[in-house]
Amino acid sequence: MRPFGYERADDIARASRYPTGQGQTDAPVQFLAGGTTLIDLMKLDVLRPERVVDVTPLTQSHSEIEATPQGLRLGAFATMAAVAGHAGVIAGYPAIAQSLQLAASPQIRNMATLGGNVLQRTRCPYYRDPSWAECNKRTPGSGCAAMKGFSRQNAVLGVDEGCIAQYPGDLGVVLAALGAEAELVGSGGARRIPFQSLHRPAGQPHIEHTLQPGEVIVAFRIPGGEVARRSLYLKIRDRQSYEFAIASAAVGLELDKGIVRQARIGLGGMAYRPWRADAAEAALIGEPLTEDNARAAAEIALRGAITHGRNDYKPELGRRTLVRALVQAAAMET
Ligand code: FAD
Ligand code: SF4
Repeated sequence: MRPFGYERADDIARASRYPTGQGQTDAPVQFLAGGTTLIDLMKLDVLRPERVVDVTPLTQSHSEIEATPQGLRLGAFATMAAVAGHAGVIAGYPAIAQSLQLAASPQIRNMATLGGNVLQRTRCPYYRDPSWAECNKRTPGSGCAAMKGFSRQNAVLGVDEGCIAQYPGDLGVVLAALGAEAELVGSGGARRIPFQSLHRPAGQPHIEHTLQPGEVIVAFRIPGGEVARRSLYLKIRDRQSYEFAIASAAVGLELDKGIVRQARIGLGGMAYRPWRADAAEAALIGEPLTEDNARAAAEIALRGAITHGRNDYKPELGRRTLVRALVQAAAMET
């Protein structure tokens, strides 16, 4: 690991004075929360920050979990384990608890925070190995080794000719599906943004998010109600534990005598960023949730998928995952 400066921010005002960059993945100043992404990538020599700003003291003030039937507020410094095991989250927002329970390992979930989780970096093997020269995300303008290489895990939705990296996180998919907001605090004050606008679309692979320099994610807000209660997260992976998704679906439904009144659909393992399938949601409204209608919605959700050989299997796996998730959600007791 290369030498770097270490500083500690005891409060949010101090943290937000640090110039953490304009969303670029390798910004020279990085916040350190649980460290399970940052330190990992520093050891691999992928991230080379000049300064690491330890923001763990913010755990004291920004890790509360407030679950009511109207809504859920999750402090961004809460650990994945704390949220996964919270009774109010499990009962009122099951997809959130499941996405965290199914992620990583118990040790990582005890260390890692929600803020760090949503900003984790892609697992594209060429990004994580600096011996590969071609990676637009790591070295802008160098090309993309994955396009003609080992693309089995790479994305099929939201990609372009510059980068087909898959967004690897689980929680982010649920936050996108359930229409969450992120609360941010920076030197310019506090603001709230839709979670879906936190991650940038493809175009400039080395610039991933929309945070301003020094801006800290302090919380996530998720609306409550029937769609949150009747929500689930289905994760398909190569092995049953300690593995990233090759396909996943976060769904939420409001049903009235079997007819869909509201639907929420997020897809994981498929896309460049946390993915909400709005058009597929719209196709379900006013219809009974049958397997045929779920399949029709899944066809819409994966429309426009672009594959690169080794990930040709993904669109069909994505459709089947979504159908299964919708059928299971419709059968839930709420
Ligand atoms: P850090 O490593 O401390 O930070 C990550 C990034 O976020 C840094 O750039 C940091 O500057 C920035 N940051 C952190 N907090 C904030 C904040 N509040 N505001 C602004 N910027 C911030 N994840 C899954 O979802 N599913 C999995 O199956 C899964 N499997 C894993 C398996 C392994 C072996 C490992 C190592 C990780 C796995 N992960 C998985 C990823 C893991 O969940 C993330 O590494 C973790 O959640 C990151 O949180 P952290 O607090 O450790 O972040
Ligand atoms: Fe790099 Fe993106 Fe190509 Fe992977 S897919 S090699 S992250 S540019």
